[in-house]
Amino acid sequence: MIPVIALVGRPNVGKSTLFNRLTQSRDALVANYAGLTRDRKYGEGQAEGRRFMVIDTGGISGEEEGIDSAMAGQSLQAIQEADIVLFILDARAGLTAADEMIARHLRVQNKKTYLVANKIDGVDPDLALAPFYELGLGEIFPITATHGRGVKSMMSDVVAELPVEEVVPAPTNQGIKIAVVGRPNVGKSTLVNRMLGEDRVVVYDQPGTTRDSVYIHYERFEKHYTLIDTAGVRRRKNVSESVEKFSIVKTLQAIDDAHVAILVMDASEGVVDQDLHLMGNVLDAGRGLVIALNKWDGLDDGHKQYVRNELERRLRFVDFAKIHFISALHGTGVGHLYESVEGAYKSATDKFSTNFLTRILQDAVREHQPPMVQGRRIKLRYAHPGGHNPPIVVIHGNQTEAVPSHYARYLEKTFRQVLKLEGTPVRIEFKSSE
Ligand code: GDP
Ligand code: GDP
Repeated sequence: MIPVIALVGRPNVGKSTLFNRLTQSRDALVANYAGLTRDRKYGEGQAEGRRFMVIDTGGISGEEEGIDSAMAGQSLQAIQEADIVLFILDARAGLTAADEMIARHLRVQNKKTYLVANKIDGVDPDLALAPFYELGLGEIFPITATHGRGVKSMMSDVVAELPVEEVVPAPTNQGIKIAVVGRPNVGKSTLVNRMLGEDRVVVYDQPGTTRDSVYIHYERFEKHYTLIDTAGVRRRKNVSESVEKFSIVKTLQAIDDAHVAILVMDASEGVVDQDLHLMGNVLDAGRGLVIALNKWDGLDDGHKQYVRNELERRLRFVDFAKIHFISALHGTGVGHLYESVEGAYKSATDKFSTNFLTRILQDAVREHQPPMVQGRRIKLRYAHPGGHNPPIVVIHGNQTEAVPSHYARYLEKTFRQVLKLEGTPVRIEFKSSE
């Protein structure tokens, strides 16, 4: 699974500046979907050819009572689940009481930690760094997050310490990897149990191969699947035992490793922001997406209509994803999820020729010309496949950096329609030949 780096520090030291630098988003169209709310705290980065996930744990001011409430909830958990912590300090401000409090907390975590002295621009590094050594947390990297100075060399040391992604010796027929994700209490565990407990399902019980989530390999109507169980269903000794239930890190790792994510939502609560954040995470990862509106049982007609309206209004940006109304508790609709999972997987992994993609591009351009920029028309010449899961279409032309997002979206939609893709985002990448 993708390793995790957590950024920790009090407010204003430059965490989000560093986060943006480390996760510099690719030229991905998915970044511009209108209506997509996203949680800018989690991102993917790359250094020295290694992929990693970066988490901005948010500011800790020291004004809160006690470290535990200050670093409450998911932030604290993220630090625990990270492989490496970067503890950011402000070289201009020197060492503060809040820094010392965070340091005390990190010292007992027994976690590989680096000190990062940010804002080193315009200060004397020797003088500025001296007080930080008092923390006794080891090596200090002086950087300027705003300009990137020192960041590359720091990251080359940091990634060298990351655990190597386990290459799971794949049984030949693991089939489609499905991650069942969603916020707490939406019914993930109930759904996982239901999916595994169906008639005709043969579960191959094998010990989990990775640290956290459990991979469950099974067969259904002679097809193989692997379910990535983030809800910890299989780790529970009995039904009533509640395992520490929700982990955003585990969720993101599972999405990253899956072919298709089933996003479970609680219909009795409608659409909430955290559902949309998770959808954004699936889109960012480029994975297939199937939406399950759970707890559809027992809702009255008025509430059902309300939920349908909400979906119509707030889920426009994932209009390619299939929505299922299910009851994990009673099993209603659960079997039909597989049709959409199969469809999304097929779309995500279909192969297309350069000729075909170029023809689609040329037709689209003829139908609707790209705009003029500085008196010259943007020229889009040819397209070729750039990978799958997510499917990537690489478009070559001139002035492609000036393609407006509405036009990119038009192309995305056209490719989706002509290629008959469902349940997966499509990534359009532009390459300029001048
Ligand atoms: P966060 O609250 O820890 O996420 O901090 P931010 O990333 O929002 O940064 C707080 C302020 O410090 C912003 O005004 C940044 O522009 C500024 N800042 C961040 N990094 C640097 C740096 O390397 N040098 C200087 N001079 N300012 C910086
Ligand atoms: P998780 O935290 O997402 O794994 O959620 P659980 O599977 O533990 O379910 C949370 C609660 O919702 C439990 O009390 C379940 O019995 C209940 N629940 C799950 N699925 C359904 C459903 O389809 N209908 C109803 N009415 N309740 C459900």
